[in-house]
Amino acid sequence: MKAGEIFVGGKWQATRSGETYQPINPANEEPIGVVGKGDKGDIDLAVTAARKAFDEGPWPKMSPHERGRIVWRLGDLIQQNLDEMARLESLCTGKTMFDSGKVEIPFAAEVFRYYAGWATKIHGETLGLRDNAFTFTLRQPVGVVGAIVPWNFPFLLSSWKIAPALAAGNTMVIKPASQTPLTALRFAEICQEAGVPEGVFNVVTGPGGKVGMALVRDPRVDKIAFTGSTDVGKQIMREAAGTLKRLSLELGGKSPNIVFADADMDAAVRGALTGIFYNKGEVCAAGSRLFLEDSIHDQFMSKLTDRVKSLKVGDPMDKATRMGPVVSKGQMDTVLSYIESGKQEGARVVAGGGRADVGTGKGYFIQPTIFDGVTNEMKIAREEIFGPVLSVIPFRSVEDGIAQGNHTSYGLAAAVWTRDVSKALKAAKAIRAGTVWVNAYNLFDAALPFGGFKESGFGREMGSVGLDSYTEVKTVWVDLS
Ligand code: NAD
Repeated sequence: MKAGEIFVGGKWQATRSGETYQPINPANEEPIGVVGKGDKGDIDLAVTAARKAFDEGPWPKMSPHERGRIVWRLGDLIQQNLDEMARLESLCTGKTMFDSGKVEIPFAAEVFRYYAGWATKIHGETLGLRDNAFTFTLRQPVGVVGAIVPWNFPFLLSSWKIAPALAAGNTMVIKPASQTPLTALRFAEICQEAGVPEGVFNVVTGPGGKVGMALVRDPRVDKIAFTGSTDVGKQIMREAAGTLKRLSLELGGKSPNIVFADADMDAAVRGALTGIFYNKGEVCAAGSRLFLEDSIHDQFMSKLTDRVKSLKVGDPMDKATRMGPVVSKGQMDTVLSYIESGKQEGARVVAGGGRADVGTGKGYFIQPTIFDGVTNEMKIAREEIFGPVLSVIPFRSVEDGIAQGNHTSYGLAAAVWTRDVSKALKAAKAIRAGTVWVNAYNLFDAALPFGGFKESGFGREMGSVGLDSYTEVKTVWVDLS
């Protein structure tokens, strides 16, 4: 791969316009490299390659054993190239090397291995419905998949789409976020090394409005797997109606983290911190609304504000750093404007509250910020901030905690903290969200589905349910009369 090239039909090539751009390292505001600025013409070529690879190519017809071996090899090669993949991810996103190298890239490798095993286990059913007919169902790949991915977990969220799509025999075109394209491009080289046939996996980099939308509008694309903001998700849904594409939408969140008075307080304090400050709060499932039962509020807040001081903000490449910069200047400005709005609406800043000075005079660093005295009606409690800002809201009873937690247009995730199992189960059932953690936060597994209720989207990723959305069901009737 040369600088500025995209990966189409198994070959590295310049964008048709020859245009490029430079992603910026958010830790020092310097360019990281040169990347192709694709447009509709590049999507045309990539979809043509993916279509040909699906309609004529060996991939969907290949023995699932062989396909599974290739998908497994992808997992192995990701693991072998872990340090490089982690470094590329941290350079673009500002996430710490611990997060990318110890958590996210290894998890992505695991996702490939998990779905490699599924390649041989995709099957339909035989239904003995009539004496004079033989009926069965087949599960077949959907076709060409367009994957559009955000910048907060660029490679991990890509793996949630690529691994099931390839294991099921689909071909695909992926469009990474403009800020964070490097791991998707490096992964295309890994595909070459693993023996993925040409045209099966294509990468087109460039701006979302042009490249992403061209993918959504192309009638030869059968499914769009999108992760990103709720606003863009709605736009994609409207546009996809034109060609009636299959859609899975993993969108935003404003997840409640509910602590009851009988909880293990130290564990809940740790959970509150990782819930909001992991990856600087740029997490769709972030526990951005912390609900505290009245009677423990003061003690909890004192522990929380004490512990937040130990979160070192700084260079993501430094092992001591717990929080790097947010992804871009634009994102920093957005987060700072939410902090301002919280102050204006009367919430109390009890930690942070502005930019963090890391001593270099550069970088998009924000202090871990906690607002107390928030109500569910305030903007900081209603809208997804997608940064290191926590809103703390009091509640009176189990019913009140659940009702306030559910009072949001989103439904991606939630957590409850209690030692009472019946309270935990009651809350887990009543909360309208795709994932509920009890006495934990941010647990994920390749075998467990993840996705949203309400405006957090629809469809699930990971697990066997995640695989289903990359297949079509066909019913076959054989008349025996
Ligand atoms: P975004 O919606 O701005 O962009 C997501 C992707 O869509 C990017 O690749 C972007 O280039 C592309 N895009 C932008 N405009 C487009 C358009 N008009 N047509 C087609 N594609 C377009 O989101 P973001 O700012 O990159 O990511 C943050 C958002 O993602 C947050 O809302 C977060 O909650 C959400 N998210 C959700 C999950 C989940 O699993 N539910 C996971 C991570 C992030």
